[in-house]
Amino acid sequence: MSYQALYRVWRPQRFDDLVGQQIVTRTLKNAIITHQISHAYLFAGPRGTGKTSAAKIFAKAVNCHHSKDGEPCNECEICKAITNGQLNDVIEIDAASNNGVEEIRDIRDKAKYAPTQADYKVYIIDEVHMLSTGAFNALLKTLEEPPANVIFILATTEPHKIPLTIISRVQRFDFRRISAEDAFNRMKYILDQKEITYDEKALWVIANAAEGGMRDALSILDQVLSFSDNEVKLDDALLVTGSVTKQLLKKYFLEISKHEGAAALDTMKDILDEGKDGQRFIEDLISFIRDILLYQELPSLISVESTGLKQEDFEEIVQLASSATLYQMIDELNNIQEEMRFTTHPDVYLEVLTIKLAQIDPQKNIQSAPTVSSDTNTEATKMIEKLQQEIQQLQQTVKQLQNTPVKASRPSPQQQNEQPRVQQKKVQVNLNKIYPVLENATRQDLINVRELWGDMLNLLSVPQRSLLHVSQPVAASAVGIIVAFDYPFLFQQAADDTTLLGNMESALQRLTGNERQVVFVPKDKWPKIRQDFIKDHGFGKNQQKTQPIIKQKTQATEGSGQPPAGTPAPMVEPPLPPEDEVLTEEKSPQEDNQVATAQKLFGSDIVKVEDN
Ligand SMILES: [Zn+2]
Repeated sequence: MSYQALYRVWRPQRFDDLVGQQIVTRTLKNAIITHQISHAYLFAGPRGTGKTSAAKIFAKAVNCHHSKDGEPCNECEICKAITNGQLNDVIEIDAASNNGVEEIRDIRDKAKYAPTQADYKVYIIDEVHMLSTGAFNALLKTLEEPPANVIFILATTEPHKIPLTIISRVQRFDFRRISAEDAFNRMKYILDQKEITYDEKALWVIANAAEGGMRDALSILDQVLSFSDNEVKLDDALLVTGSVTKQLLKKYFLEISKHEGAAALDTMKDILDEGKDGQRFIEDLISFIRDILLYQELPSLISVESTGLKQEDFEEIVQLASSATLYQMIDELNNIQEEMRFTTHPDVYLEVLTIKLAQIDPQKNIQSAPTVSSDTNTEATKMIEKLQQEIQQLQQTVKQLQNTPVKASRPSPQQQNEQPRVQQKKVQVNLNKIYPVLENATRQDLINVRELWGDMLNLLSVPQRSLLHVSQPVAASAVGIIVAFDYPFLFQQAADDTTLLGNMESALQRLTGNERQVVFVPKDKWPKIRQDFIKDHGFGKNQQKTQPIIKQKTQATEGSGQPPAGTPAPMVEPPLPPEDEVLTEEKSPQEDNQVATAQKLFGSDIVKVEDN
């Protein structure tokens, strides 16, 4: 018998099997129980979160004559036929491959005919945002005059690409990313059922790597199982997720911290020989150092079991480097990451990096460093001299390389052989999530959210609360809230934490009754994001013509945080035109950038206003 992928075998067949979507499934079940069926639904959310599974379960539940508590029986002929994709009345269309007007016209014509076997004809259109404009128009006509007993379920990962005319005619459900905890529990359940032994640490590695997609988690689990049929091992999980074996990273880190540049170069080569590419190595190192920083701050800030290291490892590492050194390391890593994006010779950059990292600190952090005996000191000085020479040579090579034109990078044999793995992460913000919040942001929403921020924190765990202490809400609408983090690496930490996002969203919902999507941004990028949004939406242009509004806008931008003496406090400011409301935020050191951008946009008199 051929092997069947876990995510197929374990595809949810009941609403209660869907992981992490309780709000959606409860509402859908209620609709079935109370017979309040709408003729069109939109299921929006990231990939692998259960949208099409939910659509099929809904198609069954609405047609099953033995449904109980809103769940399909999965036993009757109709249920079985839908599960197997054999019922003519349930039609699945992949818009990614059927994006023509013809196909939708075809739906329009056929939708007119009553269902043949079932009570309802159900069209499930996956990736609906891929439809052409013509096809959307044809679909709109159908939705405007919905035939009796026909239900459309539109599924998409990119709802903002769907015309508002369509959105306004559907009942929308937002599917959330699956938390690492939910993914962990689901995998545990499946493995227990299959009587497969597992290392829980391996499951955490997989759950974190899946980044909110249950299907991704199960695909990675499948790959890990292919190494060893009846066991899930940590090493295999690390290999498949492309994460450099943590012990090697730890060795590398200990060496650079002890200024053993030469040894660190060897370890780095070992890591690359494992088949990792340079970018991935840097990313892993950044997240490694981030974990150490957090651990140093407060051990409970990280869940040790999800890092693939032991408590003792952390204790050992924390002794070695001060947080100042760690921050310097992260800076170096961020710089090299940028430079490396365009090179065909990443190894040279990595060598320079390694030597730079091994040189960080001695004088600067002398207070915190343990005293070194004098002969190790001379030895160290010699080593440093040698390394400095080496670094000069390498820097020269880099300069030469930078001057040669960039060719498309050819993957090394190692890269070609590499296991398929989850997508690489970059420290970047997701405008697709930010813009929809900004489009409807109001100052009142922000004030409301800030008022209950403390209550929300109280509903979270201690580590989550500590992480959020360096953050604050900077914009809010009825459907979303944008939270800015002081440090980029803490932003990344938070953005990677799907459990945190989920918990914040449900806490906010409990407090306000509103379902709001939480979006994180690094604080230093926020002024630029906001300014770009204003530019993209043409707010800037309109205001360039009328000076009084420019002045009002300036106050709105600058006045909402800690205003300079004499400026009215934000709460008592006169009401502003709606486009200004997106500007509400805390005053931050980055406001200087903001002024520069604003000046570019609105002319120089804006600066005068700010100066008084
Ligand atoms: Zn049934």
